[in-house]
Formats: sequence, structure tokens, C-alpha cells
Amino acid sequence: MSVISTGARRIGSAALDLIFPPRCALCGAGGSFLCAGCAGNLNAASPPRCDRCWRPGTYQDVCPHCQAEPPAFDRLCAAFVYDGNARGVVHALKYRGLTALAEPMASLMLAASGDALEAVDLIVPVPLAGLRRRTRGYNQAESLARALGDELGLPVVPRALARKRHAPPQARSADAETRRRNVAGAFTARPELVAGARILLVDDVTTTGATLASCAAALNEAAATSVGCLTFARED
Ligand SMILES: [Zn+2]
Ligand SMILES: [Zn+2]
Repeated sequence: MSVISTGARRIGSAALDLIFPPRCALCGAGGSFLCAGCAGNLNAASPPRCDRCWRPGTYQDVCPHCQAEPPAFDRLCAAFVYDGNARGVVHALKYRGLTALAEPMASLMLAASGDALEAVDLIVPVPLAGLRRRTRGYNQAESLARALGDELGLPVVPRALARKRHAPPQARSADAETRRRNVAGAFTARPELVAGARILLVDDVTTTGATLASCAAALNEAAATSVGCLTFARED
């Protein structure tokens, strides 16, 4: 799709938002982009979980994975389990162009994150692969980061991270080790934007945490002080 038609489509969808009042992305009820009933039906990613990577289970402190090989991020928190309803919300944001959903999603993420958010200086979204961003026109992680930034009154710095090279999209069937290898070293961070800062790294969904860990490694290399991760959902 050309840049012009993508732009035209975005303007078109903004105009449609004005003409048609908001409807719930899941059930279609009028009044909001995510109704209270559907938000209440999201499956919370509740404890007990690993304090570090949010893997479900009861652990002494952190899970065996984090003990054997601590991830590059200091902590990860996901608001919901990535099942039916959460998937519906993420897909509406990602593929149906419902960027207005980012606001209610960010509120739910903040409500779920508890003390995971203490001490943050700036918010950084996980970058999309260039090709996907050009086709889709926006990055859903950046939409969430901006909504979080608005609520928290914190700066959002999308340019802090970039993809180093084209990495193949992660097939759902890929095992954890393959995913880790695919994204290891895939990102680079700008020291002039992140050095000395406590970062909140934001994405829509995390699976193994490999992408977030790879981003965190780049941020650490650029002398960030700490990296906490917050996602809307986690594949348990
Ligand atoms: Zn609904
Ligand atoms: Zn862990």
C-alpha cells in the first residue's frame, strides 16, 4: 500500500470517528471504545507470579529462569492474560485501526501495574519493524506509550530505540530459544536520549519476554539507569 493511500485511510478513519459515536471494540455497545462489562471480563494476569518476568507460579522470589539467567530488564508487568477478550482488544488496536482504544487500555494497564511503575523518568515504546510500520501507518506500542505518557505526565521517546536490521516476524510456532536468537541484538538505543534515565518500556503483548529483554539490553548498553516493562497482555 502506498504512503498516500495509507494517509488517506487514516484521515478517513479519523473522520469516521467524528461521524459515528464510539462503540465497544468487543461487543459493539455504544458509548465507549471498551465498555465496562467487556473490560471487567478481561482475564487479569494476577499473582502469584515471578517478581521479575511475570511468569505465573509461586516462587521464593524470582522464577528458576530468572535465577539462572536474569533478563536485561529489571521487572515486567502485564495487565492481562492474552486470551480471547484481551486478544480481541489488541487486534482491534493493531489491525482495525482503533487507536482510540489506547486510552482505556492504558488506564487498565496503570490500574494493574501497582508499584511496578514507581520511579520512571520516560516512556519508550518497542519499535515496529520498519516494513510493518510503513504498511500499517502507526505502531500500537507507541499508541499505548503515548496514552500512558498522557496519564502519567511523563515524556514519551519513540526514537530512543530502533531496530538494527530486518528480523523475521516471529512465527507462533517458534520455540523460546529460536525467538530469543531472532531478537537478540536486534535493537539499538540512543545514549543521548536514555543515559541516566529510568525507563518504562511499553508493548501491547509479550510472549516469552525475549523482545523486551533485547530492547532492555540495548537501553542498558546506552546507560539507562533501569528498565521496567509494562504490557497490556502476556501469553501465559
Ligand atoms: Zn463491550
Ligand atoms: Zn522470572
